[in-house]
Amino acid sequence: MKVTILGAGISGLATAWKLSGKQELEIIEKNSCIGGMASSYKYKDFSLDYGPHKIYTQLPGIMEDFKNLVKEDLMTIPKKNKIYVNGKFFDFPIKITQLATRLNPLIGAGCGLGMAESLIRKDKTKSYESYLKNNFGRGMYNLLFRDYALKVWGDPKELAEELAIKRIPVSGFADLIKGILFGVKKEQSAEHFYYPKNGIGTVCDRIVKQIEKNKGKILTKTKIEKINIQKNKVESITINKKKQKTNFLVSTIPVTDMVELIEPKPPEKVLNAAKRLKYRSLIVLTILVDKKKALDCNWIFFPSADIIFNRLSEQKSFSKFTCPEDKTALYVEMTCDYNDWRWNASDYDLFELVMRDLEKIGVLKREEVLEYFSKKARKVYPVYSIDYKKNLTTILDYLDTIDNLQTTGRQGLFNYNNMDHCIDMANKTAEHINNNKGKEEWKDLRKYFDSYKIVD
Ligand SMILES: Cc1cc2nc3c(=O)[nH]c(=O)nc-3n(C[C@H](O)[C@H](O)[C@H](O)COP(=O)(O)OP(=O)(O)OC[C@H]3O[C@@H](n4cnc5c(N)ncnc54)[C@H](O)[C@@H]3O)c2cc1C
Repeated sequence: MKVTILGAGISGLATAWKLSGKQELEIIEKNSCIGGMASSYKYKDFSLDYGPHKIYTQLPGIMEDFKNLVKEDLMTIPKKNKIYVNGKFFDFPIKITQLATRLNPLIGAGCGLGMAESLIRKDKTKSYESYLKNNFGRGMYNLLFRDYALKVWGDPKELAEELAIKRIPVSGFADLIKGILFGVKKEQSAEHFYYPKNGIGTVCDRIVKQIEKNKGKILTKTKIEKINIQKNKVESITINKKKQKTNFLVSTIPVTDMVELIEPKPPEKVLNAAKRLKYRSLIVLTILVDKKKALDCNWIFFPSADIIFNRLSEQKSFSKFTCPEDKTALYVEMTCDYNDWRWNASDYDLFELVMRDLEKIGVLKREEVLEYFSKKARKVYPVYSIDYKKNLTTILDYLDTIDNLQTTGRQGLFNYNNMDHCIDMANKTAEHINNNKGKEEWKDLRKYFDSYKIVD
């Protein structure tokens, strides 16, 4: 059977890998390179990621997949994350003992009062804001979660509580305190992670080798124009104005873009639901630095509004083999709306804003900077707005009426996930197709995919 896969990010590639050898495969990728968000690129003597990606999983069998692919190039890295709160650096996940002893006593008292208030008064709106206020109290919410949400995803009052459940490793103060007394639970935080010696792109490069070994074809720089449906089946796709027959279509491109390619056009309510689903965009400002090392950790989170970026990380703290010995590379992540002032700002303007904050927090001096450039990606963070599930369900219910089509992956299922989840989804999608299973089983799988949690 001929299976066509849209998108050569890790989801599309891993699905193809697991189908290869059993099905005839063709992967369509619009960009000139493969790997999507989980790729690396060469720049001078550096091997750089689009923001470094740790490999870590708690899903059964997935670490074996990473190990089988990356083999002896897979390194184990001790994990050290920090968070910058009220002008001070703390370990992350945040330790309540550090917060209590190092925070301004007035702020500490505010957090305590907020916590007490949250035990009595519960907000029932089921938003990101209400979930975190109910569980951590108003003070803690304002200090740690509110502005970070505003920076990364948008107004926390309009975000669904699922986002907090997926993204925040502890469910409240009680959990935090248990963590101090009995140690942090494994599912809440990792002590170490894995990383390929030459950059995260190794994972996708090795998957490509497996696909090619099994005679799968990957077409890069290829634009899909239409998905042609006949009698509830994908009959063909149109590329370069020519129809190409296919027996099965797996899409890992943004689901909102995919529905617009379908001919005849889906019902109006489906197209409207797709318009209402929003993705946030990402700018990664990469700064090459003329010193051996810049940070003493892997990542630093910046929840407060007075710092323009949300996260800072150092490529060399993932692998020393990716940078020259005497130099390093920093990544500054800024989330924005597509086409807003940040998206349209020049690299010079972005750098000036970022550098002001880096100097303020004492991480980098201007004279240490060798050069800088930005990479921008439009559809990166699926926004879990309060009505996202309703809109997504409208779209997925419609797609379920097309027998030989499946949408999967982070973009394809609007699922805020990590690479390990993408491989897990790929394994299950391939198994589903190879065993000719039906839509009811696919719906059950989607429910399971919804249960993924991100471990920082
Ligand atoms: C800054 C950042 C840091 C992250 N850190 C980690 C981490 O530490 N660990 C971790 O496990 N995960 C991390 N992730 C998440 C991880 O990157 C994603 O879960 C994963 O890469 C998603 O893969 P995907 O294939 O589903 O989507 P994508 O990587 O977005 O791939 C989709 C592919 O489809 C292609 N495409 C789009 N439209 C079309 C079209 N019309 N026609 C053809 N092709 C098309 C795109 O070019 C792309 O190649 C991070 C993500 C970000 C943004």
